[in-house]
Amino acid sequence: MAQYLAAKADHPDALLFFRMGDFYELFFDDAVKAAGAVGITLTKRGNHDGEPIPMAGVPWHQAENYLSKLIRAGFKVAVCEQLEDPAEAKKRGGKSIVQRGVVRVVTPGTLTEEGLLDARTANRLAAAAFAGDLAGIAWADVSTGAFEARVLKASEVEEELAALAPAELLVVDADSALVAEAARIAGATVTTRPAVKADAKSAERRIKAAFEVAALDAFGDFTAPELSAMGLLLDYIELTQAGAAPRLTPPRRNAERAFMAIDAATRAALEIERSVRGGRDGSLLACVDRTVTSAGGRLLAERISRPLTDVAAIRARLDAVEFFIAEPHRRAGVREELRAAGDLARALTRLALGRGGPRDLAQLRDGLHSGDRAAARCMGLSDAAPSEIAHACAALSLSSHPGPASLAQTLDGALAPELPLLARDGGFIAAGYDATLDETRALRDDSRKVIAALQAKYAEETGITGLKLKHNNVLGYHIDATTKQAEALMTPPHNARFIHRQTNAGSIRFTTAELAELDAKIARAGEASLARELSLFKDFAVRAAENEAEIRAAAEALAALDVAAGLAEWAEETQATRPEIDESIALLADAARHPVVEQGVRREGQGFTPNDARLDAEGRSGPRLVVVTGPNMAGKSTYLRQIALLAVLAQAGSFVPARKLRLGVVDRVFARVGASDDLSRGRSTFMTEMVETAAILNQAGPRALVVLDEIGRGTATFDGLAIAWAVAEHLHEANRCRAVFATHYHELTRLADKLDAGANAHLRAKEWKGDLVFLHEVAPGAADRSYGIQVAKLAGLPKSAVERARAVLGKLEANGGTTRVEIAEDLPLFAQVMEETAPHPLEAALAGVNPDNLSPKEALELLYRLKAAAADAPDR
Ligand code: ADP
Repeated sequence: MAQYLAAKADHPDALLFFRMGDFYELFFDDAVKAAGAVGITLTKRGNHDGEPIPMAGVPWHQAENYLSKLIRAGFKVAVCEQLEDPAEAKKRGGKSIVQRGVVRVVTPGTLTEEGLLDARTANRLAAAAFAGDLAGIAWADVSTGAFEARVLKASEVEEELAALAPAELLVVDADSALVAEAARIAGATVTTRPAVKADAKSAERRIKAAFEVAALDAFGDFTAPELSAMGLLLDYIELTQAGAAPRLTPPRRNAERAFMAIDAATRAALEIERSVRGGRDGSLLACVDRTVTSAGGRLLAERISRPLTDVAAIRARLDAVEFFIAEPHRRAGVREELRAAGDLARALTRLALGRGGPRDLAQLRDGLHSGDRAAARCMGLSDAAPSEIAHACAALSLSSHPGPASLAQTLDGALAPELPLLARDGGFIAAGYDATLDETRALRDDSRKVIAALQAKYAEETGITGLKLKHNNVLGYHIDATTKQAEALMTPPHNARFIHRQTNAGSIRFTTAELAELDAKIARAGEASLARELSLFKDFAVRAAENEAEIRAAAEALAALDVAAGLAEWAEETQATRPEIDESIALLADAARHPVVEQGVRREGQGFTPNDARLDAEGRSGPRLVVVTGPNMAGKSTYLRQIALLAVLAQAGSFVPARKLRLGVVDRVFARVGASDDLSRGRSTFMTEMVETAAILNQAGPRALVVLDEIGRGTATFDGLAIAWAVAEHLHEANRCRAVFATHYHELTRLADKLDAGANAHLRAKEWKGDLVFLHEVAPGAADRSYGIQVAKLAGLPKSAVERARAVLGKLEANGGTTRVEIAEDLPLFAQVMEETAPHPLEAALAGVNPDNLSPKEALELLYRLKAAAADAPDR
């Protein structure tokens, strides 16, 4: 109990898995919590302070399964192992206790086990540190060793976390309120750490020690908040891995790499990584993903969630995709090779952390060979190959990496065809690889043969036909006799030879001196074999670690080839084309499609109607703002989203579903779709919508792309229209960015006509025999009507209600309900409004005053001036 309580005291916020023989036991509150969360039986044991101790246990070989459930339920688990063989403890005296210690804390952000990870999703641990207006974000994927840091404005943290989607986020106590909301949106568990762990100076020391360098300059010029964040991260990894060396790549500084900013609401509205239903299915990512390796899947996810803004970098990615489009045979060959690759990066990490098994060695072997063969398939053209491909091939070609090459080759001969999960199960080294091992195995096998012969010999000598020799873990080899056979064995002369061991219902067990000796010999040989295998395994793990940098580079190259070939595959399947990316601020698309909706429509055997889009923030090659109208279900949302998705895909480095796309780089994309209630945040629909709209109007610059779907619907008609109106005008006049605005307020179409760089478009629908037919075709100009009643009819509203609605509508229209369109003519221009909202003269006069520098006389004069200005100022 003392031992347990000591271990628990070090890890108060984790469940303690306390190893006792074949079980991990949980006690006290831990037992109650775990039993409730994963449905294991709660029992009681012994006494503590006069009360029975609640206890629950899981068999060690099923621990991973329970761990995974507990982690998903939001727990952390400290694993306390037996650090010595119980036999060792006995040697110290009968009452000695087996030494135990926490070897690891399993948390959502520090997982490495195959069974606990999603193969196609990065598992990131992030840390955030704040210094005034600045924030440092560092993140690592312990399972692959990736490690990056970045400095940004504190206000951009939410966006950054939405892009990274970390499993766990570290902050110091004092900052936890700052990130709570961002973490919730990103789906991260927040873990608070003591402030000393974020001290920049000691963080710097910690980083230098971890990467064995005297100065950090080689990695980049890190700012204090970046150092703090990296320090938090490394400290926590050390803590949770209980001293096992964190195998991370040297930190990569991401400040210069510019990404397209996409906030969490836009990600959700565009369904980039997840669909509205919450899963990967139905998302843009799932739709375009044709990768064949898990690492490729993870890299694609990273690219799609963080598109670039650097034209040259985007073009380099597109070159790689184009290479594989031009070479379909090579592409097929490369993909064929990659299919056999396994997960190099994660296998390597497990081996390096001492958590690997024989199957990880096999993944290493397969990954290295597949990569080498894939590179060979690309060669021949290598002078013509674009830089990304050439670079990947150079990292993969084993001929230029002797270390990994020889490791892979050795593993070819060393590993048995069937591999156990755990090294301690033995039997994973192939026969013929190691002479010592072959010898001990032969000894064991020969003895087994002798034992097999004994059965016949004993049967003959005792005259008991059907006498059986069996084996179990407790008794080893023994003679298993029926009650009747046993009688004979226990009477002279046999009883001199057959020694009784055990009586069970229906079977009585015996041994002989001869059998016992053979059994011991086999056990010894078995132990020797296993020890030899484990030592060989260790050698391989060490060799893997020695070649770590090259193997990691190969893993990255493999993923890059997979992504390029996969995107080419998708592009060919869907007839996507290469976008032209430039520095303009236009977006000109011919015959573009929504990749996900198209997939759905086609599955139902229908065709998808492509549509053009013309936008130019300068108002030259197209309008800056397009107002889109049309009935419900006509395809407005689809059209809006497809425009934004074109930009996301193109800048991620993918071809796009359009006959042609010319795109001036977008630095921020905003998408808002008629808000749904966000009750968990305690905000009504309308409030959410306004908060999000405010974010757009405050942030969108000339390079932004904004798509707004039915803003201003959550309130009464007039103020809703008024807001929609003001928002559209603000986008056109103040933000001056590319924007598409879908609305049901037909009044807005007048506005679009009036704005110098505004235009109207509508989705065509026609009435046919009293029913509405959607053409899904975008045409210039405003829709003539909204067809609400027809759509309601299509949806199956009772006939009586439909008729009634028609009558009401007729009445409203007859009463001149359309006079509202006149406001377009009556209102002053938005530019004028903007002037009027310039600072008040009093504010302007006060802005330049520093009271500390005023003499009493100057202060009095100032007061007179202000009073005069107030008298002149317009009444506000
Ligand atoms: P709205 O926003 O106008 O109510 P949506 O964009 O949600 O309409 O589209 C409604 C449905 O119409 C979609 O789910 C899809 O099935 C179909 N659709 C939309 N656009 C197209 C298109 N271009 N071609 C074919 N079908 C389309």
